[in-house]
Amino acid sequence: MTPPPPTLPAKLHPMVRAFLDSRDTVEATVSAFGSPVHLLFPQVYAENLARLREVLDRRVPGHRICYAHKVNQSRAFVRVAERAGVSIDVSSPWEWAEAVDAGFGSARIEVTGPKGETFLRHLVGTGSTINVDNLWELGRIAELADAAVPVLLRISGFDGTPISRFGVPPHRMDEAFDLLRAHRDRLAFLGFAFHLDSGEQAERVRAFDACLGLVEQAYGYGLSPSVVNIGGGLRQVFTADADRFDAYVGLLRESLLGRGAPMSWAGNMFGYHVDGAAVHGVPVFHKYANTLAADRLLDDLLTSPLDNHGGRSVAQVATDNLLTLWTEPGKALVDHAGITVARVEFTKETADGSELVHVDISRDAVTPADQEVMVDPILLPPVRDEFGSAPAGFDGASPRRSRATADTGPLGVYIAGRLCLERDLITNHLVWLPRRPRPGDLLVFPNTAAYHMDLSAAAASRHRPPAKVAVTRRGGVFHTCPDTEYEPDDAVAAEYPRVPRVNGAI
Ligand SMILES: *Cc1c(COP(=O)(O)O)cnc(C)c1O
Repeated sequence: MTPPPPTLPAKLHPMVRAFLDSRDTVEATVSAFGSPVHLLFPQVYAENLARLREVLDRRVPGHRICYAHKVNQSRAFVRVAERAGVSIDVSSPWEWAEAVDAGFGSARIEVTGPKGETFLRHLVGTGSTINVDNLWELGRIAELADAAVPVLLRISGFDGTPISRFGVPPHRMDEAFDLLRAHRDRLAFLGFAFHLDSGEQAERVRAFDACLGLVEQAYGYGLSPSVVNIGGGLRQVFTADADRFDAYVGLLRESLLGRGAPMSWAGNMFGYHVDGAAVHGVPVFHKYANTLAADRLLDDLLTSPLDNHGGRSVAQVATDNLLTLWTEPGKALVDHAGITVARVEFTKETADGSELVHVDISRDAVTPADQEVMVDPILLPPVRDEFGSAPAGFDGASPRRSRATADTGPLGVYIAGRLCLERDLITNHLVWLPRRPRPGDLLVFPNTAAYHMDLSAAAASRHRPPAKVAVTRRGGVFHTCPDTEYEPDDAVAAEYPRVPRVNGAI
């Protein structure tokens, strides 16, 4: 018996799974909004938000969630966040305006990232909290302000943490404290912030500990900070099967050593390097291996013991010191709340015998910052075969097959995008599809809401960006509307009773 082909099965939210199983609804959606199309599930977003909120409610009395808007440009997600009563983290004048337009009072808006003169002039006086990146910015706010501007100070350069381009380094803190003290009337100093682009919890715990030290120092300067902002960075869960993921990566590493069939396009190494008979390095796609859900990661962080505080946990020390804990989750809130659907144009063979499946979307619309996405796209079955019923066995998740021919059996392919650029390969690793796709088939890219849709998308060759469509389920029936027109209603809460209702809380 031949072993089953290596696969990277995607975890799907039950609602997304049900939508894809409702094959006629998928087809009707693509007919109505065109292909390719990004589909967003605001109810899944609301569920993610409720989960993180539950952990924070349980562990720390004082907390604030700021949804990191840059993860996705969707207005529907912003509307759900606003309706749920949380805050928002924006990083451009356009995101700020979008948040205000979606109903956020400016006091519920926190502004992060680098800000130049124009943006600062715009922000000062609005009441939004400015998460200050550097000393120039801090000094400039003090010069521009008529009344006290709420500010957080972003810190970086923690021991054992990779260098960051953001934040104030430890050896410049004295200057920062002097500025804050000198301009108390213009700078309402709330506290310290960090954001680590890391899956390492220990780094976050060390950073939190460093912030506690700074809070103490600030008191020495006569300041009274009350906030520590621990940023975002909670990981997503992409894979449905960690063992199969590991098995795929094991075979990929073997193939890079020249053992077994090639599994990478044009000799791509994915960040590995080969040294003699071994493969070394951390692959660019390592985040796709995570299996711990974000609420669990957050709980682990909050319950981590702090050695410098008698082993008390992050949550306990924050509580005992009457600190408010701010978080800025992005990808954790949109995990499983979006998919992207594209149409297969044709398949072709290349000079080295590789099989390419061409689709009507490009890499940058389904890939964050050019990172390789390590979950298999799902090939949907045709709506109806010529006998009027959908053929069994081609549901992408369970490739059953009667005959292992090239047309009906599993097939290893690379997915190619629509741009005339060599680099527009949506997968540089081999993907096993249950059968050879036919022109017109739909291919679904799972879990694309976090950065995959928007972070790198360009309008090369004048291709229009894919439309964004909100998909909701009410009473078991799916409804679709343009993302910009989505309004959360009581049905969102009815489908997920744990979603907190509007309460005016910040
Ligand atoms: C991007 C960003 C976030 C969100 O990060 P995730 O990893 O998506 O949770 C939070 N804070 C800041 C300052 C950011 O730049």
